[in-house]
Amino acid sequence: RTGAPPLLVCDRIDRSFGGLKALKSVSIAISPGQIFGLVGPNGSGKTTMVNAITGFYPPDAGRVMFDGRDLKGLKPHRIARLGIARTFQNLALFRGMSVLDNILVGRHIHMRPGALKSLFYPVWARPAEIRHRRHVEDIIDFLQLQDVRDMAVEVIPLGLQKRVELARALAAEPRLLVLDEPMAGMNQEEKEYMARFILDARDAFGAAVLLIEHHMDVVTALCDRLLVLSYGEPIAEGDPHAVIAEPAVVAAYLGK
Ligand code: ADP
Repeated sequence: RTGAPPLLVCDRIDRSFGGLKALKSVSIAISPGQIFGLVGPNGSGKTTMVNAITGFYPPDAGRVMFDGRDLKGLKPHRIARLGIARTFQNLALFRGMSVLDNILVGRHIHMRPGALKSLFYPVWARPAEIRHRRHVEDIIDFLQLQDVRDMAVEVIPLGLQKRVELARALAAEPRLLVLDEPMAGMNQEEKEYMARFILDARDAFGAAVLLIEHHMDVVTALCDRLLVLSYGEPIAEGDPHAVIAEPAVVAAYLGK
């Protein structure tokens, strides 16, 4: 989609768990403004790839470069601060906290230590804190979460909870947005909303997006490029419509 140089480059990533090779020489490159889809059957290594990029499970071999910088040895919070935000396959929201406060948590990587706590009180907020709040309010408007902003996050419908996760990731102003099954468990209408929001987020923030998703209709509609994994190995890559028609991909999904 864009001719810009890649923001994220993963070069021949390997990762094992004990004797299990979860990733075998997986390479990807994503440019700003591009939505890159990573698909494959359950257990094919998609989440492991996300964890390799975000520093949760560093690769055994291969390099992850972000904006020209080698991420080797960096802890997840350092990588996050460089501009990579993720959502999780299973919701990772804070129960008992409001929608607004959950989104503010995403903002904390830009705040000085201790500032987060003070945000939860109506203080005579210092200018930086006002700026953070305003940014978060903008995201709430953008994702149409106004009606639920003060509700406890666990009482709102699942589709909205997934949207709060997206909001929290966007609050960090990421340059790379990593979405791990953002539509899992959603009905058709919720999926369509989420698809729209992902496209809008890409356009509004110019972010690069790595999308892990098993709904093929979603992937082909949203992604500029697609990589298919099977048992940790790349088996097809390229234009989404072409890729999903490849016999190796069809076979992988049918269980060979
Ligand atoms: P996917 O996201 O495509 O469903 P995963 O990346 O979660 O696949 O898993 C790939 C393989 O690695 C699976 O066989 C899984 O059991 C294994 N795996 C993932 N994480 C761990 C871990 N922390 N310890 C042991 N095995 C793991």
